[in-house]
Amino acid sequence: MTLKGKRAVITGSNSGIGLGIAESLAAAGADVILNSFTDRPEDHDLARDLGARHGIAARYVAADMSKGADCRTLVEKAGGCDILVNNAGIQFVAPIEEFPVEKWDMILAINLTSAFHTIAAALPGMKAKGWGRVVNIASAHGLTASPFKGAYVAAKHGIVGLSKTVALEVAGRGITCNAICPGYVLTPLIEAQIPEQMKVHNMDRETVIREVMLERQPSGQFATVEQIGATTVFLCSPAADQVTGTTLSVDGGWTAL
Ligand code: NAD
Repeated sequence: MTLKGKRAVITGSNSGIGLGIAESLAAAGADVILNSFTDRPEDHDLARDLGARHGIAARYVAADMSKGADCRTLVEKAGGCDILVNNAGIQFVAPIEEFPVEKWDMILAINLTSAFHTIAAALPGMKAKGWGRVVNIASAHGLTASPFKGAYVAAKHGIVGLSKTVALEVAGRGITCNAICPGYVLTPLIEAQIPEQMKVHNMDRETVIREVMLERQPSGQFATVEQIGATTVFLCSPAADQVTGTTLSVDGGWTAL
């Protein structure tokens, strides 16, 4: 399976799952545009290294996914895209009554509204070519809830709904739109939650991972960025031409419970 000649834009891809997806798409032959809100030399080095290792064109474009105009500019600066992966995301945990309004607004902007803007910017080019893939990185929290994650759960349920709507709007035009719903994947986003959880539960690292984080993941194992990358490549393959408007869980059985 080769994605040679396809250009992929992956939002929030200088770290974690986004970078893993960029690696997998590049390994399958796609040219890739990496993104985050920072504009450091190491961000551009990351793209140069990826391009050199896989023999593909890779570029880093700084754009802040909390800002609608930046989301649209990202697609424009990429020169359009055949594959759009909406992956940028942040988390904040608090009871609803104490949830800071600015955190709510930021999570909704980055985890949900950014996808509205990038999809709107990318679809005309995909329609003109008669081929396109939109892959939205939702979460097991796009299908189920947990207390204290109100903004995150709302945004992730929202992106599942947006994926279905877009799929219907472009059905039959060679374009698909789906959401991948990972369970826990050990990335910087999750790593950052471990010390706080250790404090709250008065547990050591291994116990927090086993008894708190993976408690809802029946496999008892983290999913990997490589597995999310491979799932994205599958959704871009001809085998997935008729897979659209749906969710694909990579969650060790979480949502089967
Ligand atoms: P991460 O923190 O490692 O990566 C998040 C990425 O988003 C980073 O590249 C970061 O720079 C970028 N980002 C943050 N704010 C941004 C902004 N304003 N503009 C542009 N980029 C921005 O986290 P991750 O675990 O790799 O998460 C990636 C996605 O996967 C998120 O949408 C997250 O909700 C989802 N997800 C993660 C897990 C998990 O267990 N790690 C599970 C389910 C879903």
